[in-house]
Amino acid sequence: MRFVTTRGRAPAASLEYAIFDGLAPDGGLYVPESLAPWTVEAIQQLPARSLTELAIRTLGPFVSEEIGEATLDELARDALSFPIPLVAVEPNVYALELFHGPTLAFKDVGARVMARVMAALHDGGDPTTVLVATSGDTGGAVAHAFYHVPHMRVVVLYPAGRVSPTQEAQLTMFNGERGSNVRAYAVDGSFDDCQRLVKSTFADEALLRRVRLTSANSINIGRLLPQMIYYFHAAAQRMAQDVAWNVAQDFSPAIISVPSGNFGNLTAGLMAKRVGLPIARFVAATNVNDVVPAYLSTGRFEPRASIQTIANAMDVGNPSNFERMTWLYGGDLDAMRRDVVGSRHDDDEVRATIRRVYEEHGYLLDPHSAIAYLGLHDVGLDDLASGDVASDFSRTPRIFLATAHPAKFAEIVEPIIGRPIDKPAPLAEAVGRPRHVLRVGATRDAVAELLRA
Ligand SMILES: *Cc1c(COP(=O)(O)O)cnc(C)c1O
Repeated sequence: MRFVTTRGRAPAASLEYAIFDGLAPDGGLYVPESLAPWTVEAIQQLPARSLTELAIRTLGPFVSEEIGEATLDELARDALSFPIPLVAVEPNVYALELFHGPTLAFKDVGARVMARVMAALHDGGDPTTVLVATSGDTGGAVAHAFYHVPHMRVVVLYPAGRVSPTQEAQLTMFNGERGSNVRAYAVDGSFDDCQRLVKSTFADEALLRRVRLTSANSINIGRLLPQMIYYFHAAAQRMAQDVAWNVAQDFSPAIISVPSGNFGNLTAGLMAKRVGLPIARFVAATNVNDVVPAYLSTGRFEPRASIQTIANAMDVGNPSNFERMTWLYGGDLDAMRRDVVGSRHDDDEVRATIRRVYEEHGYLLDPHSAIAYLGLHDVGLDDLASGDVASDFSRTPRIFLATAHPAKFAEIVEPIIGRPIDKPAPLAEAVGRPRHVLRVGATRDAVAELLRA
């Protein structure tokens, strides 16, 4: 399979080229040349499929020309070594818990698969270094994803003193290990300074002749494709429950609410629907950074500076994957509206929802997942085409994506529910290790020097 760009002004590229280059030469984003529909039989067999089997079936069409079946099988098993359960929260409302990976957030899924796909595509020559700037979370997911992955190294730049102590513990976890392929450096400056340094390093021709560099940011197609997997896994688990309960053969398509910032997660879901996954509607659930919900209601896309909220991984004012969303619908707003409903929520609603759901259902949401939960309640019967609805609307399954473990946002969640939350093992381990903070000056030369070392 080849990958074309959303802007159509550069040639189609191989998977290897698209994944190691990230951004297309015309400034567009890579998208698959075709999205071939799954057969009806393949969809009916979903409930019998494991997470790994679904990963192979989902990724196969995109990677099979460049990665053999045995390698794909091995990398899928290795990357998806944690469960992604569908948990009932209230009648017909389910959380798809994407936070059981090493950094307790859904970005583990895309980053871990991408890391292993990169290793499988690598020519075996000099190692390639992934250079990333992070404001906290993405860097941790990338560091953990590439740890011990052959042919690959990681250098993360984060703003000194501006990430949380927990984030710094996760980022720097491998710094003290001799021969570790992952290093995180504290930069004297802001996140913007870190991003500026990464940009100028990628523009340093002399350095690029000596060091093989790549990026791993959220626009990379290598992170997007694996995110399709768990939509199939959600439907599979839901259908398996119906089979177990001996309910009707015709599974009613679900409504899925996606807490969104850069819209990579939602775009992956829309691609899953395009290849045949039975989903009635998606909810694009945002915090007050609501440029996509606003677009769905007014037809105007108006990016703006981001506003800080308690769901800070979604504080994005100019979501990069919007370009992929419009590409998927050929710019047809009404077609997008048939698949996606917008929904926007402020911090007060989020706090009230975390408290209420905890008190009424004993389920603890993090701020991002709370926005997804809220989004489910914004879809009514009117939003659905008649064919999509179970004979009884209340039976239409509603799924929200739970993208982070509440313990990652303990400082927000604990005061709301009035009690401390236990730290899950990966977090306790990161925080418990001795901290090895490495520093680098905020100059291109300083970064170039550590990349050459
Ligand atoms: C990154 C992130 C999101 C937003 O995902 P996008 O793909 O950028 O829309 C939501 N929740 C959490 C916890 C995240 O880390």
